[in-house]
Amino acid sequence: MSELVPIRRPRTGLPRTDETGPNLRGLSWDELVSFIETTIGGPKYRAGQVYGWLHKQRVTSFDEMTNLSKSQRAELAAASTVDALKVDTVLRSTDGTRKLRIRTSDGHQLESVLIPNDGRGLTLCISSMVGCSLTCQFCATQTLGFQRNLAAWEILDQVYRAQTLLAEDAAAAQAPWVERITNVVLMGMGEPLHNFVQVRRAIDLLTHPEGAGIAGRRITVSTAGLVPAIERFGREGLAEEVGLAISLNATTDAVRDEVMPINTKWNIDTLLATVRALPANRRRRITFEYVLLDGVNDTDDDAGRLIALLRGFDAHVNAIPFNPHAGAPYRRPSAQRVSRFVERLRRGGVKVHVRTPRGDDIGAACGQLALDSGSSAVPT
Ligand code: SAH
Repeated sequence: MSELVPIRRPRTGLPRTDETGPNLRGLSWDELVSFIETTIGGPKYRAGQVYGWLHKQRVTSFDEMTNLSKSQRAELAAASTVDALKVDTVLRSTDGTRKLRIRTSDGHQLESVLIPNDGRGLTLCISSMVGCSLTCQFCATQTLGFQRNLAAWEILDQVYRAQTLLAEDAAAAQAPWVERITNVVLMGMGEPLHNFVQVRRAIDLLTHPEGAGIAGRRITVSTAGLVPAIERFGREGLAEEVGLAISLNATTDAVRDEVMPINTKWNIDTLLATVRALPANRRRRITFEYVLLDGVNDTDDDAGRLIALLRGFDAHVNAIPFNPHAGAPYRRPSAQRVSRFVERLRRGGVKVHVRTPRGDDIGAACGQLALDSGSSAVPT
């Protein structure tokens, strides 16, 4: 039995609910420069200082911007906010995974997951929506329905709150260094490509050299297969900048129609043709995620078809044995079935990695997010 340790965090730093003006954390560098110019004016470096407070120091109030005068801080506070997300609870798995249950200023809950890498550092899995706009039958998030898109600042602030948690944890443990987030994956709640504009804005901010400075090649966007948005992803240069993961999850349209109804709109051939047409990126391979559902998509024939489908791709398959949760009519295949499937792929020349479930004792594994939040809107 795994140990489950909920940590209640102090109720400080509650975001303001009477939001006025833009949240400065969601503004691009240029937008922030012109905003500062029209509000408090002053030398050009002023905007750079504010940018640093928001994206490097990760402050959550104007009062912390100590190199601005009191009146400048008041002027900014009257015209804008620097609200942050609030980490309500941190659930700690025995395998080192931490799930952050986070609250938005309008009372919605979302989740991010910090996963230790095999080597050094951590991968942070972040959400792009409250609930989800899609209806993939194996995924817990879809049971919440679609609540709303996250704003750019809410997408990137998940990274900052996780970094702040790591700093606090290191201080509490008197550790000589703070653990680092080396990779960010948009594989949490929501379909990132259905929230394209805000996701792109968040990526621009996360990769900005004056901010968190996370390299684009360390960011992965995962999609259920929104064909027009994948085309746009290529057109707007994102395919060359960040990684793309495609949740394939089936090898026939009949099965994929059933488990991922989005397939009835853009089927497997259309999806793969779109991915093939993306500008080639020498740095990054395309990842295909494949949730293994016992008896549904894990047969020898499936393995054979998957090899054929991926021919010509420099592809990498992430095989994810299904993480069970109440309400999903699927089972995880036995370990033997999983390794038989994986071995067949390998013999067919497909690079494959089995993603061992992380944090499933705290409902933090793939497809388990928002399980226990019931209605995701809670009173503040
Ligand atoms: N909407 C995006 C990102 C969220 S899902 C997408 O579809 O890619 C992130 C990954 O978790 C997807 O590959 C999905 O197939 C997988 N997943 C969802 N539910 C799962 C479950 N119950 N067990 C294992 N993997 C699951």
